[in-house]
Amino acid sequence: MFTKFFDWYEKRHDYAREWIAKNNGEVMGCFCSYVPEELVYAAGHLPHRMLGSHEPQDVTEPFIFGMFCPFCRDVLAQGLKGRYDYMKGITIAQSCLHLRQTFTSWRNHVAHDFSHYIYMPNKVQTDHARPYYNAELIKYKEALEKWTGKEITEESLKDACDLYNENRQLMHEVYDLRKGPDPKVTGLEAMVMVASSFMVDKKDHNAELKRILPELKSRNLNRDTGARLMIVGSEDDDTKFIKMVESVGATVVVDDHCTGSRYFWNSTEFTGNLMQDIANRYIDRVPCPTKDWEERSRFPHILKLAHDFNVEGVIMIQQKFCDPHECDMVPLKEFLAANDLPTLFLEFDVTVPIGQFRIRVEAFLEMLGVEELF
Ligand code: SF4
Repeated sequence: MFTKFFDWYEKRHDYAREWIAKNNGEVMGCFCSYVPEELVYAAGHLPHRMLGSHEPQDVTEPFIFGMFCPFCRDVLAQGLKGRYDYMKGITIAQSCLHLRQTFTSWRNHVAHDFSHYIYMPNKVQTDHARPYYNAELIKYKEALEKWTGKEITEESLKDACDLYNENRQLMHEVYDLRKGPDPKVTGLEAMVMVASSFMVDKKDHNAELKRILPELKSRNLNRDTGARLMIVGSEDDDTKFIKMVESVGATVVVDDHCTGSRYFWNSTEFTGNLMQDIANRYIDRVPCPTKDWEERSRFPHILKLAHDFNVEGVIMIQQKFCDPHECDMVPLKEFLAANDLPTLFLEFDVTVPIGQFRIRVEAFLEMLGVEELF
C-alpha cells in the first residue's frame, strides 16, 4: 500500500530527474522547512527538501566543522559526492547556524545556477516579523522571476497555495488515523509519507494520498500497538531507528520535528494579500526551537499532541551538537515530567548504534510497563 511513498523516498534522485525531463522546470534544493515552497512551485520548479543519506562519509571535513550537527554534514556530503548533479537551484531560510554553514559551503563548492538566502526572522514573536518576512518573500519572488525569466502570477501563486494546503489537510487525515487504539498507520509509514512529500510534486503526492486514504480507514494492521510513543526533537528521518522501535513493543503515534508534523501542521489562510498570507503561514507555524522565544509556544503544542494521540512515553532525539534542541531538552523534559509523560533521551549521529539504542528503548518500554509483545 505504501510502496510508492517508499520508492519516492529511497529513489528521490530518479524521481527528480524524471520530473525535470517531463516538466519545463528545475529542482530547487530547500535547506530548511522554513523555505516558502509555494513560491518555488508557482515559479514552475520542484522544491526538494535536502536530507542526508545516513551513510558514513569523509568528504565534509575540509568545509564544515566536525562539531556541526550530523544532519548538516550528511546533507553537505550529498552535494560534495555529486548526488545532486542535476539540481540547479538552492535556497535557505534562516533557521540555525549549522544549516546556514551547510548552505554556504554548498554555494561555494557545489555547482549550481541560482542561490538565495532568505532572512527568515528568528524572533517571530513580534509584530515586526510579519511585514519583515513579507518583504523578504517579495525579494525572493523577484529573484525567482529573474532566474526563470517569467512572472509568478497571482493565479499560479494561489494554485500553489491551494495545492500545498490540500497536501497539509490530507496529511492531517493520515495522522488522525493514528489517534485511535489501533493506529492504521505505523510510525515508519508516516515518517516516509512526510519525508517523500518533501521531494515529490505535491500533485503526485496528493493523488497517492487520495488513492490510499479510503483503504487506510478500514485497514487492520494485525499487530499489537504496545506502548504509544511520540518522537520529538531535531531533524529525524532515520527509518532504521523507528523500525527498530516499532519491532520491540511500541508504535510511534505522533511526532514533533521539522521532518514530521511540523512541516505540514498549519495551512495558509487567505485574507486577500497572498504574499502576506504566505509569510504569515511561516511566521505562525509550529516553531523550531530557534524561533520559539521568548515564550516557549512549542511545549503546550507538544503536550496537546501527546493528549490527542494518547501518548504514553516520549523519545526525545537530538542530533549531536544541535544547539537549538539541546537548549530545549532540559526544560522540555521537566515540562513533560510535570505532565506525567516519561521521556527517553537519545543522541543521534549520521548512523545510529541500533543495538545500543534497542537496549535503551527496551528498558524504557519496560519502565512504561510494556511486556515483550512480539
Ligand atoms: S538538527 Fe539542529 S543543528 Fe541540525 S539543522 Fe536542525 S536545528 Fe540545526
